[in-house]
Amino acid sequence: MDNLFAAVDDYFIEKLVENDPIFDQILVNNQKHQLPPHDVSPSQGKFLYLLAKIKGAKRILEIGTLGGYSTLWFAKALDHDGKVVSLEFDKKHAEVAKENLALAGVADKATILIGAASDSLEKMVTSPEPAFDLIFIDADKENNSVYLKYALQLACPGTIIIGDNVVRDGAVIDPNSADGRVIGVRSFVDDLSDCPTLTSTAIETVGVKGYDGFTISIVEK
Ligand code: SAM
Repeated sequence: MDNLFAAVDDYFIEKLVENDPIFDQILVNNQKHQLPPHDVSPSQGKFLYLLAKIKGAKRILEIGTLGGYSTLWFAKALDHDGKVVSLEFDKKHAEVAKENLALAGVADKATILIGAASDSLEKMVTSPEPAFDLIFIDADKENNSVYLKYALQLACPGTIIIGDNVVRDGAVIDPNSADGRVIGVRSFVDDLSDCPTLTSTAIETVGVKGYDGFTISIVEK
């Protein structure tokens, strides 16, 4: 079944996902620098792009940059005065991402903050940073609840919050999992469920990246 899911994903990618060679170039560059292949898929990247467009987002916060593949999808969705701020712990990942975003001609729209995301978020909250229209949580899943706490402080009514990789091949439903990422995601889902100002759902996904999924929430007030 996995092969079929991947083949169908490939079909839709070929038909519907913009064939801008820069996206492939970025993935090749990431591989050249031996970054882990943990970028969102092309269909998922296009989905994030569409969400940002539908929202009319001007300010986007991404937690977890890697080589900047999803950052580029967000940057492409922004008008000339839009901004994506992306947080990355690993210096090498951040350097490759900067190189990629410059190559794509969107360096002026993207700021990468290097360091532990929780430190960058704390600074952003105390600055204080203006609210973001869309927040994408895609870093170390163990800290998802911490990131959600900060995301809520950096949001305003109408902000969209997305949490990636929440299904983890179905492991999310195991309450006895010893995997810190599963524990982190389950705690995050509990927090989404308990948060009175958020309306949320989760969508399972299959395709070239296997069986996973994301949560999507809107800040109501
Ligand atoms: N959003 C990227 C994309 O789709 O192209 C993929 C991000 S990848 C799944 C997760 C990234 O989060 C990695 O580059 C990793 O180094 C980074 N990361 C892990 N722990 C972090 C932390 N505590 N603070 C900031 N970034 C972290």
